[in-house]
Amino acid sequence: MKKVHVFNAGPCKLPQQAIDGAIEGLKDFAGTGMSVIEISHRTKQWEAIMDETRQLWKELLEIPDTHEVVFLGGGASMGFLYVAMNFLGKKAAYLETGVWAKKALKEAKGLGEAYALASSADKNYSYIPKGWTCPSDVDYLHITTNNTIYGTQIKEDPTVPVPLIADMSSDIMSRPIDWSKYDLVYGGAQKNVGPAGVFFSIVRKDALGKMSRYIPTMLDYRTHIDKGSMFNTPPVFPIYVMNLTLKWVKEQGGISAIQKRNAAKAELLYGEIDRNSLFVGTAAVEDRSQMNVCFVMSEGNEALQDEFLEFAKAHDIVGIKGHRSVGGFRASIYNACELEDVQALVDCMQEFEKMHK
Ligand SMILES: *Cc1c(COP(=O)(O)O)cnc(C)c1O
Repeated sequence: MKKVHVFNAGPCKLPQQAIDGAIEGLKDFAGTGMSVIEISHRTKQWEAIMDETRQLWKELLEIPDTHEVVFLGGGASMGFLYVAMNFLGKKAAYLETGVWAKKALKEAKGLGEAYALASSADKNYSYIPKGWTCPSDVDYLHITTNNTIYGTQIKEDPTVPVPLIADMSSDIMSRPIDWSKYDLVYGGAQKNVGPAGVFFSIVRKDALGKMSRYIPTMLDYRTHIDKGSMFNTPPVFPIYVMNLTLKWVKEQGGISAIQKRNAAKAELLYGEIDRNSLFVGTAAVEDRSQMNVCFVMSEGNEALQDEFLEFAKAHDIVGIKGHRSVGGFRASIYNACELEDVQALVDCMQEFEKMHK
């Protein structure tokens, strides 16, 4: 089988071990003689997977008993609605750091008073807004910790006078989280923790039940906490692969080891972008994401863009075309991406520079 260097933004590269385990489970799940997609979700074998997966989350991210882990279908985009349904009483503030943040804000506007506290739209979201002050009369401040499209990242949990809610779709499991600050952390699995089809929510239990609105059963986090994410049929296969992906994270040495690995990959790639005369990074240096690395051809070399894409493709490098709203290139170097994948891209950039000297 031909292996390529996968830099897709999501769905994206997953650990080989998780993919191999998924194939096994599709054939014969836990020695049952059934596939993981044939077995009832009401069996003890499946319940054991649900329990273990929740436990892995709690262990890896040191989630305290004040919070519960929930797995649901619908994607992070459905999460935008869960946020507003379960937490927006009167007013909420959003940090507008990109298109996903804007979409989250739009959902909230349909259910209450919600506004952008600060925005970096003026420079195409190439930086994280600074110098804002969060008022204390809002129900929560919503942040998007990693801006997948623009390659910017909020690397520390901000200190504000209200609960934080964060979309961590594209940097969950890449750093420790200060849970005392958060009422909710949620996101799609398909960047750092598994395949598409499930989204995770880590909810502070005692923050629920305060809304006066009617919350439809399926959109009420309490339903899913009460039923262990099995109120209805859960997305069994994505959860199964998520379980295998988290086991891999644990075997790597957990979050601190992953964090070191990620720092080394990011340093290698940003180092080359800054050194190479043909390329230039698009995100403000201090806000550069460790997950999505965005860059373009340097001034005067714009015409070489398609040629570089072709050149990279010929070297088995896949998925580096930038999002249409930024252009150029984006290399997504999530947890499962190996240093050797990044090295292959860096080698390619160096060779391309020599060709055009
Ligand atoms: C990918 C992504 C989303 C959207 O996720 P879906 O599961 O496709 O709805 C939302 N927010 C961020 C930050 C993302 O990277």
